[in-house]
Formats: sequence, C-alpha cells, structure tokens
Amino acid sequence: MTIREVEAKSILRKHKRIDSWFISCYGMNLYRGCTHSCVYCDGRAEGYYVEGEFGRDVAVKLNAIELLRWELDPKRKRVPLRRCFIMLGGGVGDGYQPVERKYGLTRKALELMYEYNLPVSLLTKSTLIERDIDIIKSINKQSRAIVSFSFSSVDEGISAIFEPGVPPPHERLKTISLFKNAGISCGIFLLPVIPFITDTAELLEESVSRAKEAGVDFIIFGGMTLKEGRQQEYFYNVLRKTHPELVAEYQKLYRGSQWGEATKEYYDLINRRFNDIAKKYKMPKRIPPSLYRDILEQNDLAVVMLEHIDYLLKLEGKPSSFGYAAYSISQLKEPLSSMKGDLRKIKGVNQAIEAVILEILETGGSSYYEKLLLG
Ligand code: SF4
Repeated sequence: MTIREVEAKSILRKHKRIDSWFISCYGMNLYRGCTHSCVYCDGRAEGYYVEGEFGRDVAVKLNAIELLRWELDPKRKRVPLRRCFIMLGGGVGDGYQPVERKYGLTRKALELMYEYNLPVSLLTKSTLIERDIDIIKSINKQSRAIVSFSFSSVDEGISAIFEPGVPPPHERLKTISLFKNAGISCGIFLLPVIPFITDTAELLEESVSRAKEAGVDFIIFGGMTLKEGRQQEYFYNVLRKTHPELVAEYQKLYRGSQWGEATKEYYDLINRRFNDIAKKYKMPKRIPPSLYRDILEQNDLAVVMLEHIDYLLKLEGKPSSFGYAAYSISQLKEPLSSMKGDLRKIKGVNQAIEAVILEILETGGSSYYEKLLLG
C-alpha cells in the first residue's frame, strides 16, 4: 500500500437534491482510493479521476477534519444545513479501509457529527466500524444513525475472489448483529450482484435470508455496472482467470453504454428475482419511513417517498410518473403545505399522486407507500 498525504480544498459534498437511497443531501470522501480493492469497483473508472493505482494507493486528506468543522459550523452559515442524514462512506473509498486504523478520520468526523447534533448514515464493507460503536451509539441516541454494509452476496468463496481486501461475509453479518443489539438500525446494500455469479435465485435467497436472521431493517438491491476502460479491463482480467466461460456472456450484457450499464432485459430479470424473494421475507426494499420521517423537511419527505414509490412500482413492472413528480417537487422553492390547493399544477402530479402527497402532508406517511414497501 502507498499512502499519499494531501490537503483537500473542501470535504462536504452537497447534492443538488436529496438522495432517496441514503436519505441524504451531503456526503464526503475522507480518503481517495480504496485498498479493499473490490474487483468490480467503479472507483477504477477514469471518470472518477482517482490518482495512482486503484486498490494499492490511497490519498489521505490530512486537513479533512479541520475543513469539515469549518464547513459544518452553524455560526458561519447564512442558510442552515438541510435536515437529512450526513452520509459517510461509499464513493471512491471506504471510510473503514485499513488506513483508517492509523489516521482515524472517519472516527473524528463522527465525533464532529455528534458535536453538531447531526444524523448520520454510514456505508462500509469493513468490520473495523466496530471500533466506533460507542460514538455511533451516542449519535443514534441524540439524532439517529443508520449503519449499512454492502455485500455482493454472502458466499465466502466468491467474496474472497471479488472483494479480496474485505472481511468475509460471515464477519460482516456478525457485525450487523452487534450493531442491531446495540439498538442501531442497520441495512444491507446487496449491490452490486455479479452477473451469473451472485445473481442466481438460490444465492439471492441465501443472502436475503441471512440478512433477515441478522436483523436488518432493509435491503437495497442493484446490479453491476462495468464502464469501458480501466474498470472493465481489470474486471475482465480476473473473470478470464476465474470464470473464463462467462466472458462471452458478459460481452453480450455490457455493450458499451456510457454509464457501463448492462442490458435493460438483464436488470429487469434480476430485479424481478430479487423482488419475489424480498416479498417472501417481508423485507423493505428501501430505507423505511420510520427511520427518516421525523428528520426531513416536508418537501424532502415527499420527494423521498414519491421516489421510493416510483422505484417500487417499476420493480413490479408497472408504469409510474411518481419519479417525475418527485423531481418537480425537488425544484420547488415554496413548501408544499402552502400549495395544498394547487398541487395538480406541479408537473407530473396527477390525481393519484396528489392524494398521496396530501396524506404525506397530513400524516407524515402514505399507506399506499408502506404497503408497496413490504408487498
Ligand atoms: S469497498 Fe467500496 S470503494 Fe472500496 S474497493 Fe470495494 S467497492 Fe470500491
């Protein structure tokens, strides 16, 4: 491993609109690069501009905490931070990769979140997060924390090939139980599933059932992208050695989409497969509203719920304009409650969507949405 200590210009990344996967408007990368070195990691793609050899080299943002303190300071802000979870993890470097043992930037960032009373959502593949259970418990008590782990499956052998720098699935599951027993909500990002390797009905069911046993509150599912260039070359090199018979199948799936996407037919197939299994286990397929409804402002609450409905309807193979309505609401300057009589003037809002929004405004929830989430 090669460590480069660098000075960052900024840390907190603000999204243009709330991200309904993580219920977050703000994220950060404390490290650039990741020695977990997952074979499928899109951090390798040229578009992310991660310098050095991905999987071996890591840049540590030495001034991250000082900058973050300045960026989060409520006394300095004319407009307060939007109420949402602050996202730690994901992006182009796991916050709990081995270098965190030495630098402790994720730990220090959490201490800052506690000091500023901010809700936190964490995503990692590492059991090193157990070190910070004390501060995460304190944040959870004060303002709420959600801890999520990503898996491509719960198969130990496959994980050893495709996630060589990561603790094996059974250890990650044990860590989830530990956090659950400490009263902290946990989820799994079953993402990405690897085509023809971890996307089989049997392995998906095993992953969902083991997650259920560990007590997770939700599972977010997704297929793999493979962008042309470094990411694809690296992946194919490993695939040729471990599963040479699959290379031709992959070339039929990944046909040069700009975002590295597989064919729509493939994504539809695995989404249906996952949906059937999640229903069988009554597993929420998005972060459930009980974990965020008291945190968000009303417009963001409606955006998240409508986007979740949009996803859940599409998962059922049904058409939906909920996503379009959510986008229109995310562009509004005024609160929805001031437009109660005019909701139909918002682009994409039809009669059914209007009824859902009114229920959200009145009760903070939607019975239609909650039924879809588990149904
Ligand atoms: S843990 Fe995440 S960021 Fe790190 S290599 Fe794996 S997929 Fe990439």
